[in-house]
Amino acid sequence: MNVCESDKLGYAFSTYGILRVDNILDADIVILNTCSVRAQAEQKAFSYLGRVEEFKQQKPNIKIVVIGCMAERLGLKIKQRFKDIDLVIGAKNADNIVFQIVSLCDVDDTKKQEQIDMPSDIVRYITIMKGCNNYCSYCVVPFVRGNEKSLDYRTIVDGCSLMVKNGAKEIMLLGQNVNSYQYENINFASLVEKVAAIKNLKRIRFMTNHPKDLNDDLINIMVREQKLCSHIHLPMQSASNKILKAMNRKYTYEHYLNLVDKLRTAISDISITTDIIVGFPGETDQDYKDTLNAIKTIRFGGLYVFKYSKRPNTKAFEMIDDVPIEEKKRRHAIVLEESNKISAEIVLKMLGSTQQVLVEKIENNIMETRTRNGRKVFVEGNKNYIGKQLNVNVKEVKKNLLFGDIV
Ligand code: SAH
Ligand code: SF4
Repeated sequence: MNVCESDKLGYAFSTYGILRVDNILDADIVILNTCSVRAQAEQKAFSYLGRVEEFKQQKPNIKIVVIGCMAERLGLKIKQRFKDIDLVIGAKNADNIVFQIVSLCDVDDTKKQEQIDMPSDIVRYITIMKGCNNYCSYCVVPFVRGNEKSLDYRTIVDGCSLMVKNGAKEIMLLGQNVNSYQYENINFASLVEKVAAIKNLKRIRFMTNHPKDLNDDLINIMVREQKLCSHIHLPMQSASNKILKAMNRKYTYEHYLNLVDKLRTAISDISITTDIIVGFPGETDQDYKDTLNAIKTIRFGGLYVFKYSKRPNTKAFEMIDDVPIEEKKRRHAIVLEESNKISAEIVLKMLGSTQQVLVEKIENNIMETRTRNGRKVFVEGNKNYIGKQLNVNVKEVKKNLLFGDIV
């Protein structure tokens, strides 16, 4: 989500002639787009701000701006701690963000262009909805991003068309719970159909899905619409019904398993990936083992595992954070090891198979491509292949990385 928003900002700034640089030493403005989901993300932002402040002492004219969820949550407290910050703009106050930042700098806005044609990345991201109404008991997002709001489907389709016109071949639709998208009479499945109708767009992905809202309409479209990739990110969080209830996730493990079965029956090559939290308050060794066993049963294509981190304002903040940090680390390490093992086995099975890939970029004649179910394959080639879909034969697997030849 933040990558998408930074990308969008980068585009908006370029209409003022303000361009991204790779090295902070070349920057006149540093914009830190922050996340609040876990305490660790905020600590990282703080330590980075410390380094940027030191940098400002050598280059006093540089402007420092903090945006995003941490800016929303802590607001002026950030400015009190880091005196050299010029501007803090919270996530809920982001509508005129470009104007606020441009006003801070010496920019000649008479030269602003309404729209510019930029060479685009092959894969682009677009936000289809903001905020969240689900109030999972551990999660700070509804507090820092506000209530769920679906964006006008016409704006989304126009945005996607412009990206495609500029060269994008794959678009990822983003929202905290895309399955509850609703604008007038358009639900998520109908939105996907509208985006799929865009000529020259080759692939569509979307995230994140919520197991309580994923429905048959979407599964049917995934079967019918070839542009939809065979990958779904479906956060499970835990396989213990007691913990799922305490997390306010509003589904059971049995419901989750049923979805997995439906998806796999409908789309045979689908890769299902997930998020897991270990060490939620009250998670016993048995609850954690239930999750570990579910991971072994379901065999996810990949997963993100997080150690529970207490977040202000949330329901779980009131609960006793009773799993000791050492135990959280142990559970985290075991889940990760199991997931890596399964992932390696899945990748090994792809050896010798033919896969349809999209060529995303190239470096030193090695193309970085991606299969429909989301695996990267490195293939020898040239820049004429960028943005094309090819069939490749997977000839080698090294440390979870796939290498192939054009068929
Ligand atoms: N809207 C998405 C994900 C949002 S945050 C969804 O519902 O799936 C991404 C992931 O961070 C979550 O899926 C969850 O696994 C993790 N997460 C969120 N809050 C957390 C917390 N307080 N501690 C640890 N992990 C957390
Ligand atoms: Fe957070 Fe739950 Fe909303 Fe995801 S669905 S953003 S985990 S409250």
